[in-house]
Amino acid sequence: MGVPLRQQLTVGTYLIKQKLKGVKKYPLVLMLEPLFRCNLACAGCGKIDYPDEILDKRLSFEECMQAVDECNAPMVSIPGGEPLIHKEMPQIVAGIIARKKYVYLCTNALLLKKRIDDYTPSPYLTFSIHLDGMQERHDASVCQDGVFERAVEAIKLALAKGFRVTVNCTLFQGENAQEVAEFLDYVMELGVEGVTIAPGFSYERAPQQNVFIKGRDVKELFRGIFKIGKNRKWKLNHSSLYLDFLAGNQSYECTPWGNPTRNVFGWQKPCYLLADEGNAASFQELLDTTPWEKYGNSTNPKCASCMAHCGYEATAVEDMLRNPLKGLLTALRGPKTDGDMVPEPMPELVVAKTPTLAGIPIRVEMAD
Ligand code: SF4
Ligand code: SF4
Repeated sequence: MGVPLRQQLTVGTYLIKQKLKGVKKYPLVLMLEPLFRCNLACAGCGKIDYPDEILDKRLSFEECMQAVDECNAPMVSIPGGEPLIHKEMPQIVAGIIARKKYVYLCTNALLLKKRIDDYTPSPYLTFSIHLDGMQERHDASVCQDGVFERAVEAIKLALAKGFRVTVNCTLFQGENAQEVAEFLDYVMELGVEGVTIAPGFSYERAPQQNVFIKGRDVKELFRGIFKIGKNRKWKLNHSSLYLDFLAGNQSYECTPWGNPTRNVFGWQKPCYLLADEGNAASFQELLDTTPWEKYGNSTNPKCASCMAHCGYEATAVEDMLRNPLKGLLTALRGPKTDGDMVPEPMPELVVAKTPTLAGIPIRVEMAD
């Protein structure tokens, strides 16, 4: 874990308070998306295909502060679009810091050199830099040459100026464990505080659909990475049980209220990833009116193969609170990298549609 002790203590205290108060659904990280506009057009992006009138919308400083106050999560992640395009971003970040919330400002880093002096280093502020792999892999992922080099330059600059810096890495088709391991070695050598890593979610809105890695392949890939990582000093910014989940050793239900999303449409139901399920006008309305039971990779075909941290990190943290010994042992030993995996989730809605004859499932083929 790369997260400083002070932040771990704040989050730990918050979690214990929720438990003592008997709160069943509590937010862990607010996903604050103040705009969808971006200065890149990545193949696997599900955020930038909106018409210009939506891409031109911004959440104001006041709307952002209202979202932070309503939700009151101890951490705020600001993804996008590209947040550094937003003219009020320095003010928004300062407002979140003033509330003593930990803010992760996610950026592809293209504008960071130009805008860095608008920000002041703080234990509450982390630049989370988008990097999906080494040069060839990252530039292919973001569909533009030269982005890797500029991102690395920005990381070095931010570190030199005393900012907290993490790397946010999404894995797509064609990855192999050795390449990912070399990338993790490289970013650790750069001196970043930690890396968040997850398989890309197969956005229906993404320009290319064949880039996503799914099902058992994800878990095989993570097992391969963790096997190599046993003797390396990588700092992955996830709970040990979420990493164990990525390696196919935990069956978890999604708990998307742990990472609620506020964007230019309102509070997005149920999560950051599914865009067409409606919105709520307030955080409380989101909690009260979202049919949470309809979502999750064992429930809904739209969620099939999803292992994103916005759905499952909060579940893993909850499991850790209920089973601290399991969490501790997994943290000490690392995720299991061989033996059986838990069964692949099969969305119930799909299972229910399988036709049967006297209770025996039958396969139906369409005539040409
Ligand atoms: S994935 Fe991120 S950097 Fe790429 S286009 Fe989407 S918002 Fe921009
Ligand atoms: S499984 Fe959870 S996080 Fe993933 S798309 Fe479905 S609701 Fe969202």
